[in-house]
Amino acid sequence: MTAHSALKEKLFRLGIRNDLDLILHLPIRYEDETRLFTIADAPRGQTVQVEGVIVHAEVVVRPRRQLVCQIEDSSGVLVMRFLNFYGSQIKTYAAGKRVRLLGEVRSGFFGAEMVHPKCRIVHAGESLADTMTPVYPATAGLTQKMIGKLIGQALQSNQQMLAETVPDSIIRKYRLAGLRDSVMCLHNPPPEVSLEALQTRTHPAWRRIKFDELLAQQLSMRLHYRQRRSHAAPVLAQKSGLQQPFLARLSFQLTAAQRKVAAEISRDLASPYPMQRLLQGDVGSGKTIVAALAALQAIENGFQAAFMAPTEILAEQHFQKLTSWFEPLGIKVAWLSGSQKKKQKQAVSEEIASGAAQLAVGTHALFQDHVTFQQLGLAIIDEQHRFGVQQRLALRMKGAQSDQVPHQLMMSATPIPRTLSMSYFADLDVSVIDELPPGRSPAVTKLIAGNRRDEIIARIQQACEQGKQVYWVCPLIEESETLQLQTAIETCENLSRVFPHLRVGLVHGRLAPQEKAAVMASFKQGEIQLLVATTVIEVGVDVPNASLMVIENAERMGLSQLHQLRGRVGRGTAASICILMFQQPLSEIARQRLKIIFEHTDGFEIARQDLQLRGPGEFLGARQSGMPMLRFADLDRDGELLTAAQAAAEAMLNNYPEMVQRHIERWLGDKTEYLRV
Ligand code: ADP
Ligand code: MG
Repeated sequence: MTAHSALKEKLFRLGIRNDLDLILHLPIRYEDETRLFTIADAPRGQTVQVEGVIVHAEVVVRPRRQLVCQIEDSSGVLVMRFLNFYGSQIKTYAAGKRVRLLGEVRSGFFGAEMVHPKCRIVHAGESLADTMTPVYPATAGLTQKMIGKLIGQALQSNQQMLAETVPDSIIRKYRLAGLRDSVMCLHNPPPEVSLEALQTRTHPAWRRIKFDELLAQQLSMRLHYRQRRSHAAPVLAQKSGLQQPFLARLSFQLTAAQRKVAAEISRDLASPYPMQRLLQGDVGSGKTIVAALAALQAIENGFQAAFMAPTEILAEQHFQKLTSWFEPLGIKVAWLSGSQKKKQKQAVSEEIASGAAQLAVGTHALFQDHVTFQQLGLAIIDEQHRFGVQQRLALRMKGAQSDQVPHQLMMSATPIPRTLSMSYFADLDVSVIDELPPGRSPAVTKLIAGNRRDEIIARIQQACEQGKQVYWVCPLIEESETLQLQTAIETCENLSRVFPHLRVGLVHGRLAPQEKAAVMASFKQGEIQLLVATTVIEVGVDVPNASLMVIENAERMGLSQLHQLRGRVGRGTAASICILMFQQPLSEIARQRLKIIFEHTDGFEIARQDLQLRGPGEFLGARQSGMPMLRFADLDRDGELLTAAQAAAEAMLNNYPEMVQRHIERWLGDKTEYLRV
């Protein structure tokens, strides 16, 4: 590709750096300029092409300045409207000119109308396009024509670039179209190809592209999985000297699902290569105990375990819980956080370094340079999506000594839809807790418009009189943390005034960790009845007696955030309520989100719908940075192809290892660095 730098820069913006990128720059949609409709017959609400003569053109100024032309063919009249236009267009689109329009016909106030169609002057009888017109992702200063031409040139001169990288047996098994044919067809679809199949990406050519893309993703993920697995890890044998007394002291039995995943983890730990497992489960499904069991297995084998959480509140809570569980077993649990005094940190670090502490709980502070473990056998990472690959790597390296790397257990608070964990998490083994502990009654969700505050106040009064506790979650103000803080403080003051007899507490992100911990502790002990909070309580907080939650401006929050928040109530046996206050008018997306959260309590179902609504970004969290996103395949609709690609990848890694790298390079190029961990 010999492009001058301005052009190069524009192409770069589209992610195009070489001829291969150009060739794989596939259309986002197609326009059908192979057919003409008469104005009368043009189907409404679809993009169609019509042709006629301008019989009248004028610039109107009311309700706003616009260019309006009347176009006539043998069947009727249509109004063409341009709300933005150049002076030159007034001249071009003068009465008497013949034009061809491509756009959506709508029934307007004055009959059929097209707003901002693609429009050009033609002479009578001018021939129609003989193929569908591809429309490419474009950028400012680069027209469709230019992009099409560059792609055409690249295709002409680089046919060999499309040589097959998928073995014949796989092509036959999954009845795949040839790659070269597919690419050619998508750039220049022959007239007989169904526009519908092209647009919905169900055409065999699209199927092939999507398969190849998914295959590349699977190959690269599984390759890295295998590479990591080639390291040695300490063999942590299954023993029950600690686990049994631990379980015996609990006031409840593990659920069948907890037992199942605990066994999967236990088996991994006992094997000589590092576990790389993602533990998924809905809010409140009891992941912490499963992690605790894993930690006990490491400790009983003479190794240390580390338990890392993304926020101080959460880490602190884990610390307290794990201490209460482990101390009776004679296990020393250390606490390390960024906010500790230097001296304290030093003392804790020494306990960790000497092995005096068998379990270390903390925040990011755990993988700072000055922390060394005597012998780390297992790293547990809660809320994995908050941590980037770098941080996971750092913690992993902590334990790496004498050629052994520690086992890793990652946990996810947000359930991840199945197709997503099969694709973007394919470099991990996945365990799912698909059952909640018995006796939980999911919170009843109520949607209440913000102007009915009085009703809500009455409910809070009532709940507290019955000895229950209440969360009040303040609006999320993304633009300004200061404003968010101010709102929280004001809300707390207001509510204190409204409820002079209640003890109202406040917790927010700017509190010092000790203050935060103190507020949470007194809420947990029932001293505070009404806790005003920002979304810092979103993850992990566990206060079973809290059974009413009010969320202000719920329309501003994302689905997983709402689900997480709501998961803070309904943890005890009392029936609980979550009130979502919302401000009207609601945007369409906000309306959809509220509907989903109102109708569903199952986190996996909510996650699935969220994925549909917004794509994979939220679920991937920090993982997303540097991770190549799927461009063509759609996880919601291409589940069947994903399953095929998964199986094909295993077959290819086992039987055609020499073809793997070429396929990955074609589709992912150098974008596989992120998986080095
Ligand atoms: P999450 O999966 O959201 O991290 P937690 O581990 O915090 O959930 O567990 C939520 C609550 O459920 C805790 O209070 C925990 O003690 C309790 N719990 C966990 N497992 C069970 C069980 N099998 N039966 C009853 N309660 C359980
Ligand atoms: Mg948790």
